[in-house]
Amino acid sequence: MNKKLIVGNWKMNPVTLDEAKKIARKIKRASAGLVSVETVICPPFPFIYPCTSKGESALFHIGAQSASVEIDRGPFTGEVSATMLKEIGVSYVIVGHSEQRARGESDSIVSKKAKAVLEAGLSPIICVGETSRDEAGTYLETLKNQIKQSLADIPPKFASNIILAYEPVWAIGAQEAMKNEDIYESSLFVKKIFSDIFGPEAGVKAKVLYGGSVNYRNAPDIIAIGKVDGLLVGRESVNAPGFVELLKAVDLVK
Ligand code: PEP
Repeated sequence: MNKKLIVGNWKMNPVTLDEAKKIARKIKRASAGLVSVETVICPPFPFIYPCTSKGESALFHIGAQSASVEIDRGPFTGEVSATMLKEIGVSYVIVGHSEQRARGESDSIVSKKAKAVLEAGLSPIICVGETSRDEAGTYLETLKNQIKQSLADIPPKFASNIILAYEPVWAIGAQEAMKNEDIYESSLFVKKIFSDIFGPEAGVKAKVLYGGSVNYRNAPDIIAIGKVDGLLVGRESVNAPGFVELLKAVDLVK
């Protein structure tokens, strides 16, 4: 059975280490009882290592919210490499989140970061998504170009380790998620572009997550009707009771 990948993007939350450890502990404990869900939490950099815990689990992983384009070390003040993240137990790295793109991260940088993450032996969760939609559907061309350019530097041998997160920017931090039927349509479009780049076999196997105002109430239908391989969750992922509820609800989706 293909497990659903549920990724919590904590963004710049919470403020204290104590709170971060408590949230991580609750989520890890809940994830251990699930059957069809793999959970990833992505705390801010300083909290990553304290949120890791002893004992490998195939159902619970730690991720980071970004990484440098430089793969291991060097004179790059303020940067954190994927190799360092791997060293402290990180398995996934979010790359190209719209909040980073809004602060100047180009498709070209996204692609280089994703390549560095893959070369370090980790899986990038590459975020893509249109900022707005129009009746004529021109946003599809923009989305296609964004996906192609964000994957431009990645050698085909890494195709199976890439995760794409489809996050329509207008649905992030919003009141409501995108409609389930539209999520289905868009995730198929993302898979089609992925298969144009890496071939049909890679396209069939590609993992596409949905992100944008997911909570414990709408998550099961997004998985069941939107037919995505998992979710990238922002606000609800630092609300431990809500996120635990979400994990359990998604676990029950057949
Ligand atoms: C996100 O930041 O990736 C996100 C999906 O946020 P939210 O769930 O809060 O909309």
